[in-house]
Amino acid sequence: MKKIIALLSIGFVLFVSCSKEDDLSANTYVVNPNTNKQTTGSSSNDLLSDKKFTSIVIELVYVNGFEPSATAVNNMVSFLQARTYKPNGITVQKRAIPSPGKATFTIDEIVTIENANRTKFNTSNQIAVWVFFADGKSVTDTSTSVVMGSAYWNTSLVIYQKTVQDLSDSPLEPNRSLLETTTINHEMGHILGLTNLGAALQSAHEDTAHPKHCNVSSCLMYWAAETGHGISNMVSGGTAVQLDAQCLADLKANGGK
Ligand SMILES: [Zn+2]
Ligand SMILES: [Zn+2]
Repeated sequence: MKKIIALLSIGFVLFVSCSKEDDLSANTYVVNPNTNKQTTGSSSNDLLSDKKFTSIVIELVYVNGFEPSATAVNNMVSFLQARTYKPNGITVQKRAIPSPGKATFTIDEIVTIENANRTKFNTSNQIAVWVFFADGKSVTDTSTSVVMGSAYWNTSLVIYQKTVQDLSDSPLEPNRSLLETTTINHEMGHILGLTNLGAALQSAHEDTAHPKHCNVSSCLMYWAAETGHGISNMVSGGTAVQLDAQCLADLKANGGK
């Protein structure tokens, strides 16, 4: 009799754990936001391979009036599809928020906006990425150099969309969706582990003058792809800037395509 009760209790325990498993997939799983607030590049393998996560959800939030073009969003998804193994897909959940009412942002202020608005975090098999399109500039901008985007955590990016808009679509300026694509994909490249930022170098191509960037001037991970300086030359060809062979080799070596 004791044995039966013992077996019954085991059965009950198993049943309870199964119910918990079901809750996981029903999105009631209590996620730990801290796993999405780690060092940039530390999720390189998690994003590239399907070992832990079989899909990516991108929470794309923009300030009203600063939505990226549909072309740039499609290019971002294509870029990720071409580099990562995610058999269950890459989805984008887009929404607008009101203006935070600032002309410039420090990274701490960008973090505060993320903390107040981010709703997607890693679950048992899906990795979540936060991309925010700000209606202002980086506080680090100077008269000669401006920052168009930043990858500040393992799954967090900011695009200074006001800056991207100011630098595009006027005579002698690059096409806006191309500039958006270059900026977004460059920041995605950082969280994928480039360059020497989570995906180990397979050849010596880190730019010593600009650490965590590639020294090939035509590569997406060249430092100028993130700044207003020289970006016009990079996107003047009319096609999106691509990763060079050395950056591609680094991604492949860490679980990417
Ligand atoms: Zn960069
Ligand atoms: Zn490169």
